[in-house]
Amino acid sequence: MPFNTLKTHQFKVRLFSAIAVSLGCILFGSAIILWQTVSNTQQETWTQLRNAQQRIDSSLDNAHQVALAVRESLGKPCNDIVPLLRTQVAISPDVRSILLAHGNNIYCSSLYGPYQERINIDNYTKGQLFLMKGNWVKVDQPIVIYRDVVGNDSITVRIYGYLLLSELNNLSTNTPLSLVVGKQRWQAGKTPTDQLFPLETPGYMEQPSTRYPFRIVTRLYPADYIDNIWRFSKFSLIAWALLGLVSGIWAFRKSGRMHSPEQELRGALDHQEFIPYIQPVVSGDHTQLTGCEVLMRWQHPRQGMISPDRFIPMAEHSGLIIPMTRNLITQVREQFAPCVQQLPRNFHFGFNICAAHFRDFSLVEDCCEFIASFRENPIKLVLELTERELLVVDDVTHRLIAELHKLGVLIAIDDFGTGNSSLSYLQNLRIDILKIDKSFVSMIGTDAIPAHLVDNVIDLATRLDLKLVAEGVENEEQSAYLRARKVTYLQGYLYGRPMPVKEFLSLVSP
Ligand code: C2E
Ligand code: CA
Ligand code: CA
Repeated sequence: MPFNTLKTHQFKVRLFSAIAVSLGCILFGSAIILWQTVSNTQQETWTQLRNAQQRIDSSLDNAHQVALAVRESLGKPCNDIVPLLRTQVAISPDVRSILLAHGNNIYCSSLYGPYQERINIDNYTKGQLFLMKGNWVKVDQPIVIYRDVVGNDSITVRIYGYLLLSELNNLSTNTPLSLVVGKQRWQAGKTPTDQLFPLETPGYMEQPSTRYPFRIVTRLYPADYIDNIWRFSKFSLIAWALLGLVSGIWAFRKSGRMHSPEQELRGALDHQEFIPYIQPVVSGDHTQLTGCEVLMRWQHPRQGMISPDRFIPMAEHSGLIIPMTRNLITQVREQFAPCVQQLPRNFHFGFNICAAHFRDFSLVEDCCEFIASFRENPIKLVLELTERELLVVDDVTHRLIAELHKLGVLIAIDDFGTGNSSLSYLQNLRIDILKIDKSFVSMIGTDAIPAHLVDNVIDLATRLDLKLVAEGVENEEQSAYLRARKVTYLQGYLYGRPMPVKEFLSLVSP
């Protein structure tokens, strides 16, 4: 079946390229989405870190204002200043209590008035800030302590830790943010811990305060990005997948057009992949080499030698057969002309010519040039009219065949007896040779009815004074039968298979 393997191969190539285009599109889309998500998530996280840092800064600014407001009270008797301390606590939103200390000893509290407690200065980062998980009053209530030192005295302002923690929680939309002071870490939504991320942890991000010794830190995990891809870009993902599918289908169709059998043939012609194979033709009387038939082969770069049955019908259908045949005639001329003297006298070359080519006057020029190249040992040119496509017999064909006859070219009807129009050609065209199809020759020696047809064709040819070529002669019985009936020429595997030009030339060389 023509082109079947070729088509399967092309189909695989098309399918592969369509899948590649589709995947390429999806990968490209995913890469864009990933890049967008990574940069958006990081930007957003930086914004959250900055917002949290500003929020804690402003809370500590408040504490600092409170400390400034009570500075004057340092050194005064505690009972005198407790009302002032309590007023400050009342008007400052985050502040829980204020304590005054001399050296490391607290002596006055806004909650209890005169009060004794030692400050463990090691707890304070840069002597200024301490995250306390809880105290003996409220064990599970975290407190942020801000310390303002004035000479040998100090003011400590205690801030409600849960307020800051809930702020952190609100700001943690991508990943949980943590407040880090020295070795302590409070993470939004968790109980305070002193486990810090190691600095080299992948995805670690931190935003330090420039005014107070704390930082806001977080860590972005790959899962956070994937989460965000699905949360924010699912429609883009679906759109890219659809685009991939559509471009895959488009590529499949487009490559179908690009790699149509016709285009494949055209490419092969440009690359000189159609080459001549030569089959010997012998005379009926002495079975001596008298000529040859030129048969086209497609030397395919991947599929090897392709027989004409698989591509000639398509070539005829597309019209490419004409340039292909012209190219074949040129190749045979160029390869045989240098060996003109080695050829037997009156050697004839048979070319297969399709119906449409019999309306193209370039054929006359090609024949003229061909014959001229063998002037030193004149040859006969036979054009075999193949019958796959119907020849319209009109003025043009008549003129063309007349011109060919003027050049001495002989016209043969190929596969005589198999087509419908053979007899009408005999009536309307000046035919010189009939070629009996191998399907009839193969019946010789059998009881099949068409065997008698061979006799009829031979009879017809004799009466019309036409020469006869029997093709497909495979054994001696067929040969003897045909020779007994004076068939002019014989062609078949018995005398030689179609072979490359070089091989054929080595046969005719003395
Ligand atoms: P065809 O013109 O009838 O050519 C004879 C075919 O029979 C060739 O097949 C040849 O290899 C084969 N053959 C020769 N002797 C024997 C034999 O003893 N036994 C058997 N079983 N077969 C034999 P091939 O080369 O495959 O060509 C097939 C057909 O393709 C040709 O049939 C011809 O119609 C077409 N073709 C080949 N070359 C050309 C060309 O250049 N132009 C055109 N238009 N058609 C071509
Ligand atoms: Ca032929
Ligand atoms: Ca045939």
